[in-house]
Amino acid sequence: VITVWTDDCRILDGKNIIIVLLSIILFGLLLLVFFMYFLLARQNQVVYRVVTFILLVLTFVICIFVLTAIVSICLVHSGKGELFGAGKVVLKAVDMLLYPVLGLGRLLGIEKEKVQRAYANLNNKVIYSSKLNLRPQEVLLLLPHCIQNSDCKYRITGNVDNCRRCGKCPVSEIIDLRNKYNIKMAVVPGGTLARKSIRDLKPKAVIAVACEGDLCSGIHDARLIPVVGILNERPQGPCFNTQVDVKKIENAVNFLCNRRDL
Ligand code: SF4
Repeated sequence: VITVWTDDCRILDGKNIIIVLLSIILFGLLLLVFFMYFLLARQNQVVYRVVTFILLVLTFVICIFVLTAIVSICLVHSGKGELFGAGKVVLKAVDMLLYPVLGLGRLLGIEKEKVQRAYANLNNKVIYSSKLNLRPQEVLLLLPHCIQNSDCKYRITGNVDNCRRCGKCPVSEIIDLRNKYNIKMAVVPGGTLARKSIRDLKPKAVIAVACEGDLCSGIHDARLIPVVGILNERPQGPCFNTQVDVKKIENAVNFLCNRRDL
């Protein structure tokens, strides 16, 4: 029943899904608070009373944290992400609560990608509601290796300029974009090398092109660095000859560097 409900329920669209899942977590935590309060009232032994009281306070603090996250997400969705630092609260809170949210989503039978997409979209929304005015050299564009044509014999991980610009995959067009704006760019085969590129190149912001799962873990791992996530397109299935809307990358570069409203 829950699976049918989560599949059909329109409230669980990309915009609301994180709010709904956090609300369910909050409800569960509040039940726990009442349960512990009940235990505290019935407990006679001092040690148990102290332990229960500490647990009750901790759970209550987590409740406040989750509630703050829900309110902040609502502010971000209503275009008021800068109010009370809501954007920063959302990034911090959703970052910390990502795995409980994913776990609950799985329990309710919600497609994992759906939650991950919502997370990446929310992260983008926060970044687009913030004030960034970076130099192009401070922006790193990270591309997944699967964007390269599978028949291409040139090795572009490590050095994208090995590309011969044949136009059989989006890499050629993206190199044009890199040259136009003078941003940094790297093609990486996985999360470990993506993190290494960030460590080595020390960007102040990252534009990452990837699938839902990699975007989610990349945004989660980057922590203090703003990451604009752009979902790749997979017309031939996952991890094979993937595509990307280059206009979306250009919009992100313009936003990060020029503050042009999108
Ligand atoms: S555009 Fe570059 S990377 Fe893509 S297939 Fe041609 S040479 Fe290879």
